[in-house]
Amino acid sequence: MLDDQEFLRYSRQLLLDDIGEDGQEKLKHATILIIGLGGLGSPASLYLAAAGVGTLLLADNDKLHVTNLQRQILYHTVDINQFKAILAQHQLQALNPLIKCIALTRRLKGQALRNAIARADLVLDCCDNLVTRHAINAACIAERKTLISGSAIGFCGQLLVIEPPYQYGCFNCLYPEKVEVQPNCRTVGVLGPVVGIIGTLQALEAIKILVGLPSIISGKLRLFDAKQQNWNTLTLRQASDCLVCRGKI
Ligand SMILES: [Zn+2]
Repeated sequence: MLDDQEFLRYSRQLLLDDIGEDGQEKLKHATILIIGLGGLGSPASLYLAAAGVGTLLLADNDKLHVTNLQRQILYHTVDINQFKAILAQHQLQALNPLIKCIALTRRLKGQALRNAIARADLVLDCCDNLVTRHAINAACIAERKTLISGSAIGFCGQLLVIEPPYQYGCFNCLYPEKVEVQPNCRTVGVLGPVVGIIGTLQALEAIKILVGLPSIISGKLRLFDAKQQNWNTLTLRQASDCLVCRGKI
């Protein structure tokens, strides 16, 4: 049951037929793990907290650096050198005291990553490196969770949704680990609004999936060209030799 505070706070989305009280209850009882509280995780977590997702697990082992502030809109200059996960927890809790935010400041890998993913209904990959992306992908498949993966570099953004039973494959099918390490925003740079758009869309897809709406991009890769404001959509196909998702359907 929603209480009076919740009815008032979420009134504008409760009005939507596709959300309503049932959808809001689903959000309230959901847990989302957000891995990476940077340029993607900032807008994603702000929208999810504001929308009333009941529990947010906020995973990031980095401390805030001055170079983050150009795009990581959760933070302020005074926050430099503090753990992002704890800063995010305080910011999001101040935005919405009706939800629960839990900071995870240790690097998630191995069993700790599996355990964190097992606690969540859905996982947002908002990290900034390929090694972690592969680890998150494999752990989500092992735990049979939905993964919404975002990335951005320069003027380009990518969005990917994979859901059980993973019939369209996984992140590893798309980017086998053999390929060379991709450039990252430390070496190539990135524009704030580009990560903002991708992170916001990660939150949008998460809300839709949690309230029971289909994600029209499930099993698809969306590519955003910010210079042309153009989107391309590719349908994923399971790789015949993928060691991560083959045999998991
Ligand atoms: Zn695969």
